[in-house]
Amino acid sequence: MSFQVKANVNQGKGHASSQTKQQTRAYLSLEAMQKNALSTADLIKIKHHDQVAICFAWPSVTVKKQDIELSTNTRLAASLAIGDFVDIEKSDTHSQIEATRINIDFITSKDKLTFQLDQHFSTFLKEFLVEQTYVVESQLLDIHYLGQLCRIQLSQILSKHTAEIYMVTQNTKIQYDTPTMTIDPPKTSNVSGGYKDIGGLSKQIQIVREMIETPLNNPELFKKYGLKPPKGVLLFGPPGTGKTLIARAVAQETGAHSIIINGPEIVSKFYGETEQKLRDIFDQAIDMSPTVIFIDEIDALCPKRDEAPSELEKRVVTTLLTLMDGATTQNHRVVVIAATNRPNSLDEALRRPGRFDREVEIGIPTAEARLSIFETIMSKIPHQLSSHDLTSLASTSHGYVGADIAAVCREAGLKCIKRSTHAPLEDLAVNLQDMRDAMTE
Ligand code: ADP
Repeated sequence: MSFQVKANVNQGKGHASSQTKQQTRAYLSLEAMQKNALSTADLIKIKHHDQVAICFAWPSVTVKKQDIELSTNTRLAASLAIGDFVDIEKSDTHSQIEATRINIDFITSKDKLTFQLDQHFSTFLKEFLVEQTYVVESQLLDIHYLGQLCRIQLSQILSKHTAEIYMVTQNTKIQYDTPTMTIDPPKTSNVSGGYKDIGGLSKQIQIVREMIETPLNNPELFKKYGLKPPKGVLLFGPPGTGKTLIARAVAQETGAHSIIINGPEIVSKFYGETEQKLRDIFDQAIDMSPTVIFIDEIDALCPKRDEAPSELEKRVVTTLLTLMDGATTQNHRVVVIAATNRPNSLDEALRRPGRFDREVEIGIPTAEARLSIFETIMSKIPHQLSSHDLTSLASTSHGYVGADIAAVCREAGLKCIKRSTHAPLEDLAVNLQDMRDAMTE
Protein backbone atom coordinates (compact mmCIF):
# COMPACT_ATOMS: atom_id res chain seq x y z
CA MET A 1 0.00 0.00 0.00
CA SER A 2 1.50 3.33 -1.07
CA PHE A 3 0.91 6.68 0.54
CA GLN A 4 1.22 10.14 -0.91
CA VAL A 5 3.48 12.52 1.01
CA LYS A 6 1.87 15.68 2.39
CA ALA A 7 3.28 18.52 4.47
CA ASN A 8 2.85 18.05 8.16
CA VAL A 9 -0.02 20.27 9.20
CA ASN A 10 -0.94 18.16 12.17
CA GLN A 11 1.92 19.17 14.33
CA GLY A 12 0.79 20.84 17.53
CA LYS A 13 2.50 23.67 19.33
CA GLY A 14 5.40 23.31 21.63
CA HIS A 15 9.11 22.98 21.58
CA ALA A 16 10.77 20.03 20.03
CA SER A 17 12.94 19.44 23.07
CA SER A 18 9.99 18.80 25.31
CA GLN A 19 8.37 16.57 22.74
CA THR A 20 11.40 14.96 21.19
CA LYS A 21 9.60 12.47 19.06
CA GLN A 22 6.93 14.83 17.83
CA GLN A 23 8.98 16.06 14.90
CA THR A 24 9.49 12.48 13.74
CA ARG A 25 5.84 11.60 13.70
CA ALA A 26 4.22 10.35 10.52
CA TYR A 27 0.53 11.14 10.58
CA LEU A 28 -1.75 8.54 9.04
CA SER A 29 -5.49 8.10 8.84
CA LEU A 30 -7.14 5.80 11.36
CA GLU A 31 -7.97 3.44 8.52
CA ALA A 32 -4.36 3.23 7.35
CA MET A 33 -3.19 2.62 10.94
CA GLN A 34 -5.64 -0.23 11.27
CA LYS A 35 -4.91 -1.80 7.88
CA ASN A 36 -1.19 -1.84 8.62
CA ALA A 37 -1.72 -3.12 12.16
CA LEU A 38 -0.06 -0.04 13.61
CA SER A 39 -0.42 1.32 17.12
CA THR A 40 0.31 4.88 18.12
CA ALA A 41 4.08 5.54 18.31
CA ASP A 42 5.05 2.33 16.51
CA LEU A 43 8.32 2.74 14.67
CA ILE A 44 7.84 2.64 10.90
CA LYS A 45 10.18 2.74 7.93
CA ILE A 46 9.20 5.04 5.11
CA LYS A 47 10.63 3.90 1.82
CA HIS A 48 11.03 5.81 -1.39
CA HIS A 49 13.33 4.27 -4.01
CA ASP A 50 16.47 3.50 -2.02
CA GLN A 51 15.87 6.16 0.64
CA VAL A 52 14.65 5.20 4.07
CA ALA A 53 13.30 7.50 6.73
CA ILE A 54 12.01 6.45 10.11
CA CYS A 55 9.07 7.88 11.93
CA PHE A 56 6.66 7.13 14.69
CA ALA A 57 3.21 6.29 13.36
CA TRP A 58 0.55 8.64 14.65
CA PRO A 59 -3.18 8.51 13.93
CA SER A 60 -4.94 11.64 12.76
CA VAL A 61 -8.56 12.18 11.88
CA THR A 62 -7.72 14.93 9.41
CA VAL A 63 -5.39 12.89 7.21
CA LYS A 64 -6.90 11.25 4.13
CA LYS A 65 -6.54 7.50 3.92
CA GLN A 66 -4.11 7.57 1.01
CA ASP A 67 -1.91 10.31 2.51
CA ILE A 68 0.96 10.45 4.96
CA GLU A 69 1.94 13.72 6.63
CA LEU A 70 5.65 14.19 7.28
CA SER A 71 7.69 17.01 8.80
CA THR A 72 10.01 19.11 6.65
CA ASN A 73 13.06 17.49 8.25
CA THR A 74 11.90 13.99 7.47
CA ARG A 75 11.15 14.99 3.89
CA LEU A 76 14.45 16.82 3.39
CA ALA A 77 16.61 14.05 4.84
CA ALA A 78 15.00 11.38 2.68
CA SER A 79 14.76 13.65 -0.41
CA LEU A 80 11.00 13.32 -0.38
CA ALA A 81 8.88 15.87 -2.15
CA ILE A 82 5.29 16.66 -1.38
CA GLY A 83 3.26 14.47 -3.71
CA ASP A 84 5.80 11.61 -3.83
CA PHE A 85 4.49 8.12 -3.17
CA VAL A 86 6.09 6.10 -0.39
CA ASP A 87 5.70 2.66 1.11
CA ILE A 88 5.62 2.09 4.81
CA GLU A 89 6.70 -0.89 6.84
CA LYS A 90 6.43 -1.52 10.55
CA SER A 91 9.87 -1.91 12.06
CA ASP A 92 10.85 -4.44 14.64
CA THR A 93 12.21 -2.45 17.57
CA HIS A 94 13.71 -5.47 19.35
CA SER A 95 16.40 -6.17 16.82
CA GLN A 96 17.88 -2.69 16.47
CA ILE A 97 21.63 -2.31 16.63
CA GLU A 98 23.12 0.04 19.21
CA ALA A 99 25.04 2.96 17.75
CA THR A 100 28.53 3.26 19.19
CA ARG A 101 29.17 6.72 17.84
CA ILE A 102 27.14 9.38 16.08
CA ASN A 103 28.83 12.23 14.24
CA ILE A 104 26.78 15.36 14.05
CA ASP A 105 26.87 18.29 11.66
CA PHE A 106 25.27 21.59 12.45
CA ILE A 107 23.04 22.83 9.71
CA THR A 108 22.34 26.10 11.47
CA SER A 109 25.41 28.19 10.72
CA LYS A 110 27.92 28.85 13.45
CA ASP A 111 27.59 32.60 13.58
CA LYS A 112 23.87 32.24 14.15
CA LEU A 113 24.24 30.13 17.29
CA THR A 114 23.70 32.24 20.37
CA PHE A 115 24.81 29.59 22.86
CA GLN A 116 28.13 28.02 23.75
CA LEU A 117 28.95 24.52 22.57
CA ASP A 118 30.05 23.52 26.04
CA GLN A 119 29.63 20.53 28.31
CA HIS A 120 26.04 21.52 29.11
CA PHE A 121 25.15 21.47 25.47
CA SER A 122 26.81 18.07 24.99
CA THR A 123 24.79 16.64 27.86
CA PHE A 124 21.61 18.13 26.48
CA LEU A 125 22.31 16.75 23.01
CA LYS A 126 23.00 13.28 24.34
CA GLU A 127 19.78 13.24 26.36
CA PHE A 128 17.85 14.50 23.37
CA LEU A 129 19.13 11.70 21.15
CA VAL A 130 18.63 9.04 23.81
CA GLU A 131 15.05 10.18 24.13
CA GLN A 132 14.70 10.04 20.36
CA THR A 133 15.88 6.38 20.66
CA TYR A 134 15.82 5.33 17.01
CA VAL A 135 17.84 7.11 14.37
CA VAL A 136 19.05 6.70 10.79
CA GLU A 137 22.04 8.13 9.01
CA SER A 138 21.47 11.59 7.42
CA GLN A 139 18.49 12.21 9.68
CA LEU A 140 17.76 15.88 10.31
CA LEU A 141 16.53 16.98 13.73
CA ASP A 142 15.58 20.31 15.21
CA ILE A 143 16.67 21.03 18.73
CA HIS A 144 15.58 23.88 20.94
CA TYR A 145 18.35 24.88 23.30
CA LEU A 146 18.33 27.95 25.50
CA GLY A 147 15.57 29.46 23.45
CA GLN A 148 17.21 28.88 20.10
CA LEU A 149 16.18 26.54 17.36
CA CYS A 150 19.08 24.71 15.83
CA ARG A 151 19.03 22.10 13.10
CA ILE A 152 21.44 19.17 13.18
CA GLN A 153 22.16 16.26 10.88
CA LEU A 154 23.31 12.81 11.98
CA SER A 155 26.02 12.68 9.34
CA GLN A 156 27.58 9.38 10.31
CA ILE A 157 26.53 6.55 12.58
CA LEU A 158 29.05 3.91 13.63
CA SER A 159 28.26 0.57 15.23
CA LYS A 160 29.51 -2.99 15.42
CA HIS A 161 27.32 -4.01 12.50
CA THR A 162 25.88 -1.87 9.77
CA ALA A 163 22.14 -1.50 9.94
CA GLU A 164 19.36 0.62 8.57
CA ILE A 165 18.11 1.84 11.93
CA TYR A 166 20.24 2.36 15.01
CA MET A 167 19.42 2.70 18.67
CA VAL A 168 20.86 5.52 20.77
CA THR A 169 21.70 4.54 24.33
CA GLN A 170 23.66 6.07 27.19
CA ASN A 171 26.73 4.24 25.79
CA THR A 172 26.51 5.98 22.43
CA LYS A 173 29.21 8.61 21.94
CA ILE A 174 28.04 11.83 20.37
CA GLN A 175 30.63 13.79 18.46
CA TYR A 176 30.47 17.12 16.70
CA ASP A 177 32.84 19.66 15.31
CA THR A 178 32.36 23.31 15.81
CA PRO A 179 29.79 24.22 13.22
CA THR A 180 31.00 25.73 10.02
CA MET A 181 28.19 24.84 7.68
CA THR A 182 25.56 27.17 6.39
CA ILE A 183 22.06 26.17 5.42
CA ASP A 184 22.40 24.44 2.12
CA PRO A 185 19.77 25.63 -0.28
CA PRO A 186 18.19 22.44 -1.56
CA LYS A 187 18.92 21.53 -5.14
CA THR A 188 16.90 23.82 -7.29
CA SER A 189 17.19 21.93 -10.52
CA ASN A 190 15.44 18.65 -9.92
CA VAL A 191 13.16 18.71 -6.92
CA SER A 192 9.79 17.50 -8.00
CA GLY A 193 7.14 20.12 -7.42
CA GLY A 194 9.80 22.79 -7.82
CA TYR A 195 10.15 25.66 -10.28
CA LYS A 196 11.07 23.36 -13.14
CA ASP A 197 7.54 21.90 -13.10
CA ILE A 198 5.96 25.28 -13.79
CA GLY A 199 5.66 26.52 -17.35
CA GLY A 200 5.29 30.02 -18.70
CA LEU A 201 5.68 31.90 -15.44
CA SER A 202 9.40 32.54 -15.26
CA LYS A 203 9.05 36.30 -14.77
CA GLN A 204 6.49 35.91 -12.01
CA ILE A 205 8.60 33.21 -10.33
CA GLN A 206 11.60 35.52 -10.47
CA ILE A 207 9.65 38.26 -8.69
CA VAL A 208 8.31 35.92 -6.03
CA ARG A 209 11.75 34.41 -5.44
CA GLU A 210 13.33 37.81 -4.91
CA MET A 211 10.63 38.79 -2.47
CA ILE A 212 10.66 35.59 -0.50
CA GLU A 213 13.92 33.71 -0.66
CA THR A 214 16.13 36.47 0.71
CA PRO A 215 14.02 37.22 3.78
CA LEU A 216 13.69 33.50 4.46
CA ASN A 217 17.33 32.56 3.99
CA ASN A 218 19.19 35.78 4.80
CA PRO A 219 17.04 37.97 7.04
CA GLU A 220 20.21 39.68 8.32
CA LEU A 221 20.72 41.24 4.88
CA PHE A 222 17.50 43.17 5.34
CA LYS A 223 18.45 44.16 8.87
CA LYS A 224 21.90 45.30 7.80
CA TYR A 225 20.53 47.72 5.25
CA GLY A 226 17.63 48.81 7.40
CA LEU A 227 15.11 47.34 4.98
CA LYS A 228 11.81 45.86 5.96
CA PRO A 229 11.27 42.37 4.56
CA PRO A 230 7.91 41.85 2.87
CA LYS A 231 5.33 40.32 5.16
CA GLY A 232 2.98 38.94 2.67
CA VAL A 233 2.75 38.34 -1.04
CA LEU A 234 -0.59 38.19 -2.79
CA LEU A 235 -0.86 36.16 -5.98
CA PHE A 236 -3.96 36.97 -7.94
CA GLY A 237 -5.44 35.70 -11.16
CA PRO A 238 -8.00 33.26 -12.56
CA PRO A 239 -8.24 29.69 -11.24
CA GLY A 240 -5.90 27.09 -12.67
CA THR A 241 -3.11 29.46 -13.65
CA GLY A 242 -0.49 28.07 -11.27
CA LYS A 243 -0.76 30.15 -8.08
CA THR A 244 -0.75 27.12 -5.81
CA LEU A 245 2.06 25.59 -7.85
CA ILE A 246 4.22 28.67 -7.26
CA ALA A 247 3.57 28.75 -3.51
CA ARG A 248 4.37 25.07 -3.15
CA ALA A 249 7.48 25.42 -5.29
CA VAL A 250 8.81 28.29 -3.17
CA ALA A 251 8.52 26.20 0.00
CA GLN A 252 9.95 23.17 -1.73
CA GLU A 253 12.93 24.97 -3.21
CA THR A 254 13.85 26.98 -0.13
CA GLY A 255 13.60 23.86 2.02
CA ALA A 256 11.31 25.87 4.27
CA HIS A 257 8.61 24.27 6.33
CA SER A 258 5.35 24.84 4.53
CA ILE A 259 1.84 25.10 5.85
CA ILE A 260 -0.92 25.17 3.28
CA ILE A 261 -4.36 26.29 4.31
CA ASN A 262 -7.49 26.75 2.33
CA GLY A 263 -9.62 29.80 3.14
CA PRO A 264 -13.10 28.27 2.80
CA GLU A 265 -12.03 25.10 4.56
CA ILE A 266 -10.83 26.68 7.75
CA VAL A 267 -13.79 29.02 7.92
CA SER A 268 -16.45 26.41 7.45
CA LYS A 269 -14.85 23.51 9.20
CA PHE A 270 -13.64 25.40 12.21
CA TYR A 271 -16.45 27.88 12.56
CA GLY A 272 -15.96 29.76 15.80
CA GLU A 273 -12.49 28.30 16.15
CA THR A 274 -11.14 30.03 13.08
CA GLU A 275 -9.01 32.56 14.98
CA GLN A 276 -7.62 29.89 17.29
CA LYS A 277 -6.80 27.76 14.27
CA LEU A 278 -4.94 30.70 12.73
CA ARG A 279 -3.04 31.30 15.97
CA ASP A 280 -2.00 27.66 16.09
CA ILE A 281 -0.83 27.83 12.49
CA PHE A 282 1.35 30.86 13.16
CA ASP A 283 2.72 29.32 16.39
CA GLN A 284 3.70 26.26 14.43
CA ALA A 285 5.17 28.42 11.66
CA ILE A 286 7.41 30.24 14.16
CA ASP A 287 8.40 27.01 15.86
CA MET A 288 9.39 25.39 12.60
CA SER A 289 10.74 28.48 10.82
CA PRO A 290 11.81 29.23 8.19
CA THR A 291 8.21 28.71 7.15
CA VAL A 292 6.05 29.61 4.18
CA ILE A 293 2.36 29.83 5.02
CA PHE A 294 0.17 29.57 1.94
CA ILE A 295 -3.43 30.70 2.25
CA ASP A 296 -5.39 29.65 -0.81
CA GLU A 297 -8.66 31.46 -1.58
CA ILE A 298 -7.96 34.08 1.05
CA ASP A 299 -11.06 36.04 -0.09
CA ALA A 300 -13.20 33.47 1.72
CA LEU A 301 -11.34 34.16 4.93
CA CYS A 302 -11.05 37.92 4.63
CA PRO A 303 -13.84 39.39 2.50
CA LYS A 304 -14.30 43.16 2.29
CA ARG A 305 -15.53 44.28 5.67
CA ASP A 306 -18.56 46.14 4.41
CA GLU A 307 -19.54 43.04 2.48
CA ALA A 308 -18.94 40.91 5.52
CA PRO A 309 -21.80 41.33 7.88
CA SER A 310 -20.62 38.60 10.17
CA GLU A 311 -18.65 39.50 13.29
CA LEU A 312 -16.63 36.35 12.78
CA GLU A 313 -15.16 37.55 9.52
CA LYS A 314 -14.20 40.91 10.99
CA ARG A 315 -12.45 39.19 13.85
CA VAL A 316 -10.64 36.86 11.48
CA VAL A 317 -9.19 39.76 9.46
CA THR A 318 -7.98 41.49 12.62
CA THR A 319 -6.47 38.29 13.97
CA LEU A 320 -4.67 37.52 10.72
CA LEU A 321 -3.16 41.02 10.56
CA THR A 322 -1.99 40.84 14.17
CA LEU A 323 -0.46 37.43 13.63
CA MET A 324 1.32 38.56 10.47
CA ASP A 325 2.73 41.56 12.33
CA GLY A 326 3.95 39.41 15.19
CA ALA A 327 5.43 36.66 13.06
CA THR A 328 7.35 38.92 10.76
CA THR A 329 8.51 41.83 12.93
CA GLN A 330 10.44 39.68 15.34
CA ASN A 331 12.65 38.16 12.69
CA HIS A 332 10.83 34.89 12.83
CA ARG A 333 11.47 34.12 9.17
CA VAL A 334 7.85 33.49 8.34
CA VAL A 335 6.44 34.53 4.98
CA VAL A 336 2.78 34.45 4.08
CA ILE A 337 1.71 33.89 0.49
CA ALA A 338 -1.97 34.21 -0.26
CA ALA A 339 -3.87 33.54 -3.44
CA THR A 340 -7.17 34.82 -4.70
CA ASN A 341 -9.18 34.85 -7.90
CA ARG A 342 -10.91 38.02 -6.79
CA PRO A 343 -8.43 40.58 -5.44
CA ASN A 344 -11.08 43.29 -5.39
CA SER A 345 -13.27 41.41 -2.98
CA LEU A 346 -10.50 41.30 -0.38
CA ASP A 347 -10.66 43.39 2.75
CA GLU A 348 -8.66 46.52 1.90
CA ALA A 349 -6.88 46.46 5.25
CA LEU A 350 -5.01 43.40 4.02
CA ARG A 351 -3.54 45.23 1.03
CA ARG A 352 -2.08 48.21 2.92
CA PRO A 353 1.68 48.69 3.24
CA GLY A 354 3.23 46.31 5.71
CA ARG A 355 0.64 43.64 5.06
CA PHE A 356 0.16 41.88 1.75
CA ASP A 357 2.14 44.69 0.29
CA ARG A 358 3.44 42.88 -2.77
CA GLU A 359 1.05 41.70 -5.42
CA VAL A 360 1.90 39.54 -8.39
CA GLU A 361 -0.56 38.87 -11.16
CA ILE A 362 -0.71 35.34 -12.49
CA GLY A 363 -2.80 35.92 -15.57
CA ILE A 364 -4.20 33.88 -18.46
CA PRO A 365 -1.14 32.61 -20.35
CA THR A 366 -0.08 34.05 -23.71
CA ALA A 367 0.66 31.73 -26.66
CA GLU A 368 4.33 31.81 -25.73
CA ALA A 369 3.54 30.91 -22.10
CA ARG A 370 1.21 28.13 -23.27
CA LEU A 371 4.03 26.66 -25.34
CA SER A 372 6.24 26.63 -22.28
CA ILE A 373 3.47 24.95 -20.23
CA PHE A 374 2.97 22.28 -22.93
CA GLU A 375 6.73 21.69 -23.01
CA THR A 376 7.00 21.48 -19.22
CA ILE A 377 4.15 19.01 -18.84
CA MET A 378 5.03 16.89 -21.89
CA SER A 379 8.64 16.58 -20.73
CA LYS A 380 7.34 14.03 -18.24
CA ILE A 381 5.19 12.10 -20.72
CA PRO A 382 6.67 9.94 -23.52
CA HIS A 383 5.67 11.58 -26.80
CA GLN A 384 6.62 12.00 -30.44
CA LEU A 385 5.66 15.64 -30.84
CA SER A 386 8.04 17.93 -32.68
CA SER A 387 8.65 21.47 -31.50
CA HIS A 388 6.56 22.53 -34.47
CA ASP A 389 3.65 20.37 -33.19
CA LEU A 390 3.92 21.91 -29.73
CA THR A 391 3.95 25.43 -31.16
CA SER A 392 0.88 24.65 -33.19
CA LEU A 393 -0.93 23.26 -30.12
CA ALA A 394 0.00 26.35 -28.14
CA SER A 395 -1.33 28.68 -30.81
CA THR A 396 -4.64 26.82 -31.11
CA SER A 397 -5.33 26.69 -27.38
CA HIS A 398 -6.23 30.33 -26.90
CA GLY A 399 -7.85 30.94 -23.51
CA TYR A 400 -6.52 27.73 -21.95
CA VAL A 401 -4.95 28.12 -18.52
CA GLY A 402 -2.29 25.80 -17.09
CA ALA A 403 -4.86 23.51 -15.51
CA ASP A 404 -6.65 23.11 -18.90
CA ILE A 405 -3.38 22.29 -20.63
CA ALA A 406 -2.51 19.78 -17.92
CA ALA A 407 -5.94 18.16 -18.45
CA VAL A 408 -5.38 17.97 -22.24
CA CYS A 409 -2.00 16.30 -21.76
CA ARG A 410 -3.43 13.79 -19.27
CA GLU A 411 -6.33 12.99 -21.58
CA ALA A 412 -3.99 12.57 -24.57
CA GLY A 413 -1.95 10.12 -22.49
CA LEU A 414 -5.08 8.04 -21.86
CA LYS A 415 -6.00 8.12 -25.54
CA CYS A 416 -2.55 6.89 -26.43
CA ILE A 417 -2.85 3.99 -23.98
CA LYS A 418 -6.30 3.02 -25.34
CA ARG A 419 -5.12 3.25 -28.97
CA SER A 420 -2.14 0.99 -28.35
CA THR A 421 -3.48 -1.71 -26.06
CA HIS A 422 -1.28 -4.35 -27.70
CA ALA A 423 1.92 -2.37 -27.95
CA PRO A 424 4.67 -2.92 -25.38
CA LEU A 425 4.69 -0.27 -22.68
CA GLU A 426 8.02 1.22 -23.73
CA ASP A 427 6.65 1.89 -27.23
CA LEU A 428 3.81 4.09 -26.00
CA ALA A 429 4.17 7.67 -27.18
CA VAL A 430 1.57 10.41 -27.37
CA ASN A 431 1.19 11.77 -30.91
CA LEU A 432 -0.30 14.95 -32.36
CA GLN A 433 -3.63 13.25 -33.10
CA ASP A 434 -4.00 12.21 -29.42
CA MET A 435 -3.41 15.82 -28.41
CA ARG A 436 -5.85 17.22 -30.98
CA ASP A 437 -8.51 14.67 -29.98
CA ALA A 438 -8.02 15.51 -26.33
CA MET A 439 -8.41 19.20 -27.09
CA THR A 440 -11.65 18.87 -28.99
CA GLU A 441 -13.37 17.07 -26.16
P1 ADP B 1 -4.44 27.98 -9.06
O1 ADP B 1 -3.84 27.87 -7.69
O2 ADP B 1 -3.97 29.19 -9.79
O3 ADP B 1 -5.92 27.83 -9.09
P2 ADP B 1 -3.02 25.53 -9.52
O4 ADP B 1 -1.63 25.98 -9.23
O5 ADP B 1 -3.70 24.76 -8.43
O6 ADP B 1 -3.90 26.76 -9.94
O7 ADP B 1 -3.03 24.68 -10.86
C1 ADP B 1 -3.78 23.49 -11.01
C2 ADP B 1 -3.03 22.47 -11.84
O8 ADP B 1 -2.88 22.92 -13.18
C3 ADP B 1 -1.62 22.27 -11.35
O9 ADP B 1 -1.55 21.24 -10.39
C4 ADP B 1 -0.88 21.87 -12.62
O10 ADP B 1 -1.09 20.51 -12.94
C5 ADP B 1 -1.58 22.68 -13.69
N1 ADP B 1 -0.93 23.97 -13.96
C6 ADP B 1 -1.47 25.20 -13.74
N2 ADP B 1 -0.65 26.17 -14.13
C7 ADP B 1 0.47 25.57 -14.60
C8 ADP B 1 1.71 26.04 -15.15
N3 ADP B 1 1.94 27.34 -15.29
N4 ADP B 1 2.64 25.13 -15.53
C9 ADP B 1 2.38 23.80 -15.39
N5 ADP B 1 1.24 23.29 -14.89
C10 ADP B 1 0.28 24.14 -14.50
